[in-house]
Amino acid sequence: MLEVGQLVDVVFSVLSGLVIDDVIDEGELIRVRARSREVPVPCPRCAVQTAHVHAWCERTVTDVPIDGRPVVVNVRVRRLACRDWRCPQRTFREQVTGVLERHQRRTTRLTCQLSAVVRELASRASARVLPALGVRISRHTALRALLGIRLPAVETPRVLGVDDFSLRRGRTYATVLIDAETRRRVDVLPDRRSNTSRCG
Ligand SMILES: [Zn+2]
Repeated sequence: MLEVGQLVDVVFSVLSGLVIDDVIDEGELIRVRARSREVPVPCPRCAVQTAHVHAWCERTVTDVPIDGRPVVVNVRVRRLACRDWRCPQRTFREQVTGVLERHQRRTTRLTCQLSAVVRELASRASARVLPALGVRISRHTALRALLGIRLPAVETPRVLGVDDFSLRRGRTYATVLIDAETRRRVDVLPDRRSNTSRCG
C-alpha cells in the first residue's frame, strides 16, 4: 500500500488539470478535494473569455483507482457569467477538459478505461473483473457504458459473439452482438430469442 506522501504525489500528477486542496485516505477509498484553476475560459455560446464568477458548485466524480482503491474527487467548479451583454448565454458551468465532462459522474480518463474493458469483455464479465481493479461497477452500469460506445461504420462481421443480459431482475432479456474479431459492439437486440439474431 502506498504511503501518504506517495499517494499525494500520484494524485497531483494524474489530476494536474485541477488545484488539489486535500488528499484523504479513507481506508477503502481515497478522497480528493480539488477546485478548478482560476483562469479565463471561453463562453460556450460566443467564445468570449471570462473569469467572472457567478457562483460556485460542487461536483463529485470517480477517477481511475490508485493503489487498487477507488478515487472519489469532490471538485469545486465555477458558474461563470458571460461578459458580452449581447450573448444569450448569461451564465454557464465550466467544464475541465480531460477531467470533467458534462453530466458525467466519472472522469474522462476513467470513462475511457471503463469503455475499453467493457468493449473487450462485454457487460457481464467486466462487472466481475473491474471491482478487482478498484472500479466499482454494477452490471447495469457496465451495460450502459457498453451501449454508450459510439458505433463506427463497420463491415458485416465474419464471426459474431453473443452476450445476453437481464434488464429487469431476470424478467426482461436482451442480447449484445459483438464482432468476435474486432471486439466492437455490433448491435443490441431487444430479447434473446434466436429468431431475432438470425441473419437474413
Ligand atoms: Zn457568451
